[in-house]
Amino acid sequence: MRIGVLGLQGDFREHVEMLSLMGVETLVVKLPEDLDLVDGLIIPGGESTTMGRVMENMRIREPLVKKIEQGLPVYGTCAGMILLSRKVVDHVQPLLGVLDIEIERNAYGRQVESFEVDLSIPAVGEKPFRAVFIRAPKVVKHGARVEVLAEYNKDPILVREGNILASSFHPELTQDTRIHEYFLRMVEK
Ligand code: GLN
Repeated sequence: MRIGVLGLQGDFREHVEMLSLMGVETLVVKLPEDLDLVDGLIIPGGESTTMGRVMENMRIREPLVKKIEQGLPVYGTCAGMILLSRKVVDHVQPLLGVLDIEIERNAYGRQVESFEVDLSIPAVGEKPFRAVFIRAPKVVKHGARVEVLAEYNKDPILVREGNILASSFHPELTQDTRIHEYFLRMVEK
């Protein structure tokens, strides 16, 4: 099994490091043809506007949409979640548009642009998960097929729709590998 991490912008090195610590083979994906070499793909946090634009410039956006529609498992964290979404409120930017959620960017307020909180995520076990939010997106709408795996203040912050997983927080910035393990189980299936 080889997991790709989209390496166009953002904190992809942290995902690579976490997967390597878990003993998983990784590939930093930059070119469309790299997509044929991986069994699953992580889209990191960063700046979704920039990442979306670079995706277009590198001509990887369309092939990636096709791969995801054909069943490639993907996991997007923060900016990655935004890119997977169908729509961003009041903002036009290149998206993959494969996950039936609507996003409000930077929606957790200025003073608390970054914060950490212990969350209950039954899908990954009983022990609370320390979630790191950095200028995080809020899921303001989601379709019926979207499964909400965890919430914070009643807002979905970890969601899944079939082969697509997305979180508004950054597990790659902690030592807790459980969400990555969950994603690897999706890839194994
Ligand atoms: N605020 C960023 C955006 O809108 C996302 C922040 C992050 O990935 N930590 O793209």
